[in-house]
Amino acid sequence: MSKKASEDQSSSGSVNHTSIVNAGRSSKWTNGVVNPSVQRASTVVFDSVKEMKHATANKTNQVLFYGRRGTTTSFAFSDAMNELEGGAGCALYPSGTAAITNAILSFVKTGDHILMVDTAYEPTRDFCDKILAKLGITTTYYDPLIGSDIESLIQENTSVVFLEAPGSLTMEVQDIPAIAKVAHQHGCVVMLDNTWASPINLRPFELGVDVSIQAATKYVVGHSDVMLGTATATEEHWPNLRESSYTMGQCTSPDDLYLALRGIRTLGVRMKQHEANALTVANWLKKRPEVETILHPAFDSCPGHEVFKRDFLGSNGLFSFVLKPEYANGLDAFLDSLEHFKMGYSWGGFESLVIAVRNVQAMRTATTWSHQGPLVRLHIGLEDVNDLIEDLAQGFKHLA
Ligand SMILES: *Cc1c(COP(=O)(O)O)cnc(C)c1O
Repeated sequence: MSKKASEDQSSSGSVNHTSIVNAGRSSKWTNGVVNPSVQRASTVVFDSVKEMKHATANKTNQVLFYGRRGTTTSFAFSDAMNELEGGAGCALYPSGTAAITNAILSFVKTGDHILMVDTAYEPTRDFCDKILAKLGITTTYYDPLIGSDIESLIQENTSVVFLEAPGSLTMEVQDIPAIAKVAHQHGCVVMLDNTWASPINLRPFELGVDVSIQAATKYVVGHSDVMLGTATATEEHWPNLRESSYTMGQCTSPDDLYLALRGIRTLGVRMKQHEANALTVANWLKKRPEVETILHPAFDSCPGHEVFKRDFLGSNGLFSFVLKPEYANGLDAFLDSLEHFKMGYSWGGFESLVIAVRNVQAMRTATTWSHQGPLVRLHIGLEDVNDLIEDLAQGFKHLA
């Protein structure tokens, strides 16, 4: 693919918009209307011993047994996520972080070792350093671009290889199939934080992932008003994930799930618009003299760009750029001057956001960050893209 083509239009393959509309809308859950209703329940009541025995015997299936096992609203949402990601089952958690920590805990025991990508979401790192360490589980951080060389880091006791693609903030795209192949040869479970792709822009199980994790808080919910996480697994790993999640008491509010189901229906069109707006802004930034480099997977300046073109079905509104070091002193004035880009952690809603990282190196231990200037991460929302560019243009005046 030519450089121009890849920067205008990100990838091959296509998103299944029909699934986005229909996933999880089985008549079992919708009961004669378009959307599954909000079913609130702790207690499920039975009229006969026979009915109760039937529910108890089938409690790992989608039957009403007890609120924590799920209601029709949660069954509809897990079905939807599972269908979109292409797994065998999907467990629900009250946040993306809870999905990550619980998924890892489901597959490790004291004495194990895990391999964690150096560019992982910061709370994922904290979990390894603060909680897993306390349980006697060691972590080795690895270079996101390691590919099949990950073999040299696998130990006798390595049980999980954890990936995140692209990496948080710095956007390196990992070679998922190369890593998964080697990990499987050594009996490791391969987990992916798949939040950036959302359930529609990557086929994790076709690339060798065993457990795909989503912070549904981001694009699935899409409106910055719900915390929610999911972990979807293959046939082989689903029973363990499901039972561990239940045993650890993980469950989610039906009102939040209703909003997430509503979010899914527009995920396809929202993502396309986020992608188009972000590519326009990134192409504008690329020509600015203040900008050292664009870290957007659809740009060849982004490490792993070739892998992105091969494996992803599209991009979204989230990318970063690095300022030249001589503009570092103007960073705060630039951020303060922005009107449409509010400063905020998180992303995936309809609104534009910005954060800056002054010391990227402090967030990693296995790799060296080669840029001197600060990193700025943008989430490009659904506003008129010209308003966003104008905002950045006036903001850049404060950099000097
Ligand atoms: C936001 C985020 C999470 C965590 O999700 P929460 O719902 O905020 O806990 C995990 N991974 C990535 C890549 C994220 O961006």
